[in-house]
Amino acid sequence: MQVSDLGSWGIGSEKPLIMAGPCSAETEDQLFETAKALKEINISIIRAGIWKPRTRPNNFEGVGIEGLRWAQRVKKELGVKIAIEVATPAHVFEALKHNIDIIWIGARSTANPFTVQEIANALRGMDIPVFIKNPVNPDLSLWLGAIERIANAGITKIGAIHRGFSSFQKNKYRNAPVWQIPLELKSKFPQMPMICDPSHISGVRDWIFEVSQRALDLDYDGLIIESHRDPEHAWSDAAQQLTPESLGEMLTRLKIRKSTSENPEFIDRLEDLRDQIDNIDREIFEAVAARMRIVDKIGYYKKANNVTVFQVNRWKEISDVRKQWAKALNLNEEFMEEFFKLIHDASIRRQTAIINSEDAGKNGVMESQKTDAR
Ligand code: PEP
Ligand code: MN
Repeated sequence: MQVSDLGSWGIGSEKPLIMAGPCSAETEDQLFETAKALKEINISIIRAGIWKPRTRPNNFEGVGIEGLRWAQRVKKELGVKIAIEVATPAHVFEALKHNIDIIWIGARSTANPFTVQEIANALRGMDIPVFIKNPVNPDLSLWLGAIERIANAGITKIGAIHRGFSSFQKNKYRNAPVWQIPLELKSKFPQMPMICDPSHISGVRDWIFEVSQRALDLDYDGLIIESHRDPEHAWSDAAQQLTPESLGEMLTRLKIRKSTSENPEFIDRLEDLRDQIDNIDREIFEAVAARMRIVDKIGYYKKANNVTVFQVNRWKEISDVRKQWAKALNLNEEFMEEFFKLIHDASIRRQTAIINSEDAGKNGVMESQKTDAR
């Protein structure tokens, strides 16, 4: 898969790349005035939803083609670039006809390979930057598949947008970020720009700063942020949009760190600390392996005595004690609980396999003792 460097796309090379603008284009005036205020805080890529994918019907579904004409005026009079969402081949056709500079594929579309393929077919032979949002569900393959479909159509200016994932469970965020998924994507395609959409992750203005800072700390290449001249009265996503002024203020508060440093002292020290981390990780793995050997021994012992794998009292006791350990060691209790639960689940699976196996523990000879003797 060929992905060209963001610097060569002709949409700006400064990191972080900032795209901002209203969730939806509503009126010519609203789009123009918002874009003008954004230009004043040095934003040169304006986003605007023209066709809006709404979860429920009978909500505002976008102004359609008329909005593309407003966008053309904004582009001409303010000298900015315009980014819009496309969800059908007809949208692609209209976007290209109206000289839109950048398009993105929304989260709901990315989740549907038929839709992505149709968009890809409509884009064949074109040279427009395409950003692909993560699918609504946390599925790396689906995201990867969408990227591959667009790449197979010959597009090389491809970027990814992390906008969080929807969940049935109540969460602080509207779409909770799963930072690990875009990191895995990035490790597959290191040169592909990774953008964060803190607006759709947060769902409310209050969390936009912290999500943006987190993304920049993870070396994201840019941010796409919703901004409206009068957020309270926005026709869509009113709670999460920032005025251009508050966006400008927020951007100045963000700490922008370098991806790396050439300073030899820094490089030496980092290498040294990373060696230490490698050693500790190795010790963690060895400790898990040692734990599993004991888990197996207990499994054979339970099998020989016809006892169930899981004893609720024991589980309660060990999880309480581990919670106290986490606290005493100043570790995040929730994280350690999750971490330990994974280890415990794996242990239960091993013991279940042991007590159901045919030959294990036969004649009182424990498989694990044989293993130990190796
Ligand atoms: C949007 O960016 O306006 C949008 C609808 O986003 P998403 O596809 O992430 O829901
Ligand atoms: Mn929106």
